[in-house]
Amino acid sequence: MQEHNLPVLESIPCNECAAGLMTPRLITYFTWLGGELITVPDFPAWICDMCGRREYDEKSISWLKMLLAPNAGKPTRKRKPAPRSRPLSSSSRPTPES
Ligand SMILES: [Zn+2]
Repeated sequence: MQEHNLPVLESIPCNECAAGLMTPRLITYFTWLGGELITVPDFPAWICDMCGRREYDEKSISWLKMLLAPNAGKPTRKRKPAPRSRPLSSSSRPTPES
C-alpha cells in the first residue's frame, strides 16, 4: 500500500493550443493584495511549451489565498501607517512658471 504524500506533477496536454505540452515548473507567482504586489517564489505551475499558457495548481492557489486572506485566523499586526488626510491647499503648492 502506498500513500499519496505529494501530488505528482506530470506533464499534461495543453487545452489551449492542443498541440503543446504543459510541463510542471516552479515559477514566481505574482498577485496583487490590497494594492501591494506579492511575489511568491517557487510556485508550482504548468507552462505550455507551445503557447506559453500558464496553469496554476488549484490547491496551491487556495493555500495561497488562505495565507494572504487578511481576515483568516489571527489578525495581522502589520499595518501601514495611514497617511493623514490633509486638506488640499492650492496656495502652498508652488506653481512652476517658466
Ligand atoms: Zn499551449
